[in-house]
Amino acid sequence: MTPAETDRPGTRPAVPRGALDAPAAQGPAVPGSLQAFAQELDREFASLTADERIAKAWALFGKELIATTSFGRDAGLLLHHIHRLRTPVRVFFIDTSFHFPETLAYRDTLTSDYKLDLREARSFEPDNRRYAKSEEGKLSIADTTACCAINKVGVQAAFLGRSDVKAFLTGLRRDQSDSRAHTPFVHVQKGKVKICPFADWPASEVDMYLRLWEVPEHPLAAQGYSSIGCSPVTCTSKPVDPGDPRSGRWVGDAKTECGLHLDYEP
Ligand code: SF4
Repeated sequence: MTPAETDRPGTRPAVPRGALDAPAAQGPAVPGSLQAFAQELDREFASLTADERIAKAWALFGKELIATTSFGRDAGLLLHHIHRLRTPVRVFFIDTSFHFPETLAYRDTLTSDYKLDLREARSFEPDNRRYAKSEEGKLSIADTTACCAINKVGVQAAFLGRSDVKAFLTGLRRDQSDSRAHTPFVHVQKGKVKICPFADWPASEVDMYLRLWEVPEHPLAAQGYSSIGCSPVTCTSKPVDPGDPRSGRWVGDAKTECGLHLDYEP
C-alpha cells in the first residue's frame, strides 16, 4: 500500500541565509558509485562539526535533502540545528497512529517554535492497527515486527523512494545502543544518502546542547522515559536497565530496532 503524506500548511520556513546561502545543487555530483561517494563524504565528515556537516549536506543536496524525526526524547537536537542553521528541509514524521498524546503535543510545539516544514506520512493500510489488542485498558501489539513493517518501515521506504529525495538527515547516535555503536556519519540506505551529523555525540553533549539552547523537552522525559517510541506497553516503557537508554523499548522481545535504521523492505 502507498503511504499517505500530508503537509501542515503555514509552517514553511524562511529563506536560508548566512553560511547556507549558497545556491542549492540539483543533486549530488556523484563520483563513481553512490557507495563510494558516501564513503568519501563519511571520511570528510569525521573532521567536521555537526554544524559543518549539516551545512555541507545542504550545499550538496539542497531541496533534495530531507530530515526525519520521530519527535522522540532527543528530537530537538536535529530540529533545533536545522532551525538555527536556517536549513529549509522538509521534515518527515511517520504517524503510526500509536504515538503518545505527549509526542503529538511535542510535535506541535517544535513545529511551531522552529517553523518546521513538516510532512506527515502514514500507512494507507485500512487495517493498520490489526496487530493491536487492548486488555484492562492497556494496549499491546501481538506481532511487533509485522506492525512496524506496515506502520514504519513500509512508510519510510515510500517517502525515501520519492524522486525528489536524494539524502536524509537523522539524529542517530553511536552511544544510543550497541546496535548503533558503529553508525557512520554518511552511508547509503535504501538507495539514498543517509546523514547522521551527531553520530559521534555522547549523551552528555546532547543534554548540554539542549539545555544551552533551551530546547523544549519531550513531556515524557521528566517522567523517566529515556527513549520514546509508540505507546503500546509492548513498545515503550521506562528503561529496565539504567545504563541502557533504549532498554525500555520492546521489553521482553528480542527486537531492538523498529527497522527504520536497517536496510530492508517489509
Ligand atoms: S513501535 Fe510498536 S506500535 Fe509502533 S509500529 Fe512498531 S510495533 Fe507498531
